[in-house]
Amino acid sequence: MVETIRHDILIVGSGLAGLRAAIEAARSSNGKLDIAVITKVQAMRSHSVSAEGGTAAVLYPELGDSLESHAFDTVKGSDYLADQDAVERFVSAMPGEIYQLDHWGLPWSRREDGRIAQRWFGGYSYPRATYAEDKVGFFEMQTLYDTATKYDNIHFYQEWFVTSILAEAGEFRGFSAIEMKTGTFAQLLGKAGIMATGGSGRLYSFATYAYSSTPDGMAAAYRAGIPLKDMEFIQFHPSGLIPSGILITEAVRGEGGVLLNKDGDRFMKKYAPNKLDLASRDVVSRGMMTEIEEGRGFKDEATGLDYLHLDLTPIGAEKIKTRLSQIREIAIKFRGIDPVEKPLPVRPVCHYVMGGIDVNIDGATRLKGLWAAGEAACVSINGANRLGANSTAECLVWGKITGAEAAKYAEGRPRPDSAGEKVQLEEKRIFDGIFHGSGATNPYEIRDALQKVMAKDAFVYRTGDGLAEALRTIRELKAKDFLHVEDKSRTYNTNLSDVLEVESMLDVAEVVVAGALARTESRGAHARRDFPARDDGNWMKHTLAFRGPEGPRLEYSAVAVTKYQPTERHY
Ligand SMILES: Cc1cc2nc3c(=O)[nH]c(=O)nc-3n(C[C@H](O)[C@H](O)[C@H](O)COP(=O)(O)OP(=O)(O)OC[C@H]3O[C@@H](n4cnc5c(N)ncnc54)[C@H](O)[C@@H]3O)c2cc1C
Repeated sequence: MVETIRHDILIVGSGLAGLRAAIEAARSSNGKLDIAVITKVQAMRSHSVSAEGGTAAVLYPELGDSLESHAFDTVKGSDYLADQDAVERFVSAMPGEIYQLDHWGLPWSRREDGRIAQRWFGGYSYPRATYAEDKVGFFEMQTLYDTATKYDNIHFYQEWFVTSILAEAGEFRGFSAIEMKTGTFAQLLGKAGIMATGGSGRLYSFATYAYSSTPDGMAAAYRAGIPLKDMEFIQFHPSGLIPSGILITEAVRGEGGVLLNKDGDRFMKKYAPNKLDLASRDVVSRGMMTEIEEGRGFKDEATGLDYLHLDLTPIGAEKIKTRLSQIREIAIKFRGIDPVEKPLPVRPVCHYVMGGIDVNIDGATRLKGLWAAGEAACVSINGANRLGANSTAECLVWGKITGAEAAKYAEGRPRPDSAGEKVQLEEKRIFDGIFHGSGATNPYEIRDALQKVMAKDAFVYRTGDGLAEALRTIRELKAKDFLHVEDKSRTYNTNLSDVLEVESMLDVAEVVVAGALARTESRGAHARRDFPARDDGNWMKHTLAFRGPEGPRLEYSAVAVTKYQPTERHY
């Protein structure tokens, strides 16, 4: 039995992008449209809440910053794969978003003169990461959630797991979803939809991401015929705390923390003589892996993980306690080290996915009536490597844009009556195929094996042989008969949602690795040992992965270049 629920606009995801979209759709339609936000966790547990260090925006042109400089830093950081028209729109929109959040009540940290404070982040030529201590995501989420709940026409479906996109005659109709509390299967029908389902970092087990950051949204789009773009570009942040992978924000280096090898040497001077520890993340992570591979790292006896030191002591106790209090708490609780006194053990960690659902500059997907925003989407301002503090910013800008676009589209259109037979097929797939499935293989073993092969062969440095091996392994895992659940209850059946997530992880991992194997160059976060140079002649293009019967079918599309011709990057 499929329950039917109707709204005008359906937004999947209640992170920064989803909440910002909901507010804009509600605001710009003057209360006329009825908006639903569907989220598989409690809204305030969305992964965005963990953002730590900052949100980039040009606030002080009179002190030397400029939109041009933010745009150039972003394009250079992206290793010239970003679409420059999108970057220009992004940097122009950002200052307004910071002030909008300020007006909605966000307690930004302040400079001594009372104006909003900003700090250094990697790859920037000006300290433009706007911050609220080291809890930026928490305060942004709290501000947006509070604001969203003031609108009577925004309805939350919390702990509802979306399983597919419903479309008919080339148009969006809605989503199928399971209410986790009751196990009810429903179709949510709407005139327009927005995918704000976040990143897919849990393809790796050593990750800064929430456990809920699996690629369900990306996989749903891929299965609905929408291509995924540039998925081979995965960001490995330099400082994941050993052994959990919890992020030690780049703001630590922005405030004066330094990376050291086992000889106490500030090794980044070799790899980025000007920017040192504040080079872009791809450059710093490669420097770290080279140090480790050449024997200048430490080994964690308990886990076998190699690491380097991140020394916060140059920052000084007072600044650590006031500006980086959460980091200090994390280090003490999760590693037993007070960073006021001793360096922290860190290593590169999966942190962000530059690619995502292919969208145009307005966030529209190729399916009429469906938009995507935030980390789930690839617009693309991040190209081959995102600069820190640009992601929360992107969520705000394209949350707002897609909310307004979806509202414009929905106004005056009739609500769909049904989504055709697709929803019955989806119900069959989930309940006959998985809930009552008889798969013999443990799905959790499949997930572990997938994460292992991603960490081994699709990490900071890659090779053709390694990627080919990873692709073979992923296909073997996909072919295994794992579709079943042990838990037959209907209430909060996380065994069922876990299996759905594993299916999505396999599909999206296959796209990541196929794209990486095909791209025979090194650009941004995609570093091939066998093709160490960037190859603009052949590879200055976006990868588009379409779902085909044999796996991903790859096509390519042009990069939008407006002002900045590609040159060699130096930091
Ligand atoms: C530890 C950490 C620190 C960071 N710090 C910064 C920083 O300082 N500055 C910065 O710019 N960036 C930072 N980032 C990156 C940034 O936080 C994220 O890229 C951004 O918050 C993603 O927001 P989002 O709205 O796209 O998605 P998320 O916040 O990931 O939200 C995804 C939403 O989709 C929902 N969802 C997913 N799948 C389903 C499904 N199947 N059914 C229903 N709902 C679903 C989830 O419930 C959730 O509500 C950081 C990232 C990490 C991990």
